[in-house]
Amino acid sequence: MDLTAYAELAVRLVNSADSGEEHADRLSNAETFRALVADRSHLHGQITRSDVEALRQLREELTSIFMVSAEGDEPTVAERLNALLIRYPVHPVISGHDNQPWHLHLSEGGSVADRYAAGAVIGLATIVTQLGADRLGVCTLASCHGVFIDASTNRSRRYCSEHCASRANVTAFRARRRTGATGPASTAAG
Ligand SMILES: [Zn+2]
Ligand SMILES: [Zn+2]
Repeated sequence: MDLTAYAELAVRLVNSADSGEEHADRLSNAETFRALVADRSHLHGQITRSDVEALRQLREELTSIFMVSAEGDEPTVAERLNALLIRYPVHPVISGHDNQPWHLHLSEGGSVADRYAAGAVIGLATIVTQLGADRLGVCTLASCHGVFIDASTNRSRRYCSEHCASRANVTAFRARRRTGATGPASTAAG
């Protein structure tokens, strides 16, 4: 399995927080956690209140790592991820299921929360070492706290979602119309 795919768990965890707009916190109890991982069958299972607390704590730490990366402080990104790699070690297991060839699952040990955490952390560590420590981004839209992995070839991604990119375009368009400016079209959707 491509390890960078595990990084999606980190993005999903951070973005489960109340983004400051219409979303509510999507990690407030066991029920909301189950909804968060509904499409990830290997993360289904018993989840306790302390598991949820541990994941909420990890969410804070991962959020700060995305912010530090967006600021370009690469040594701090590596230092904080190294601390998390110690706390949430992977437990690789050779697995064969659904007619797939034998392959490694990286986080089969411990509770559902431990497996989620280990996957999220190894995923970010893989992004940082394969793409760069400045690839973890925070949405440029002022009203959004969403994060993303910038996998673009020219490091040009600025928004966490298409939704935010198009909202930024609309805002820029209105601002241009208000000032009567006729400059080149905005490339805000990058
Ligand atoms: Zn598998
Ligand atoms: Zn956003």
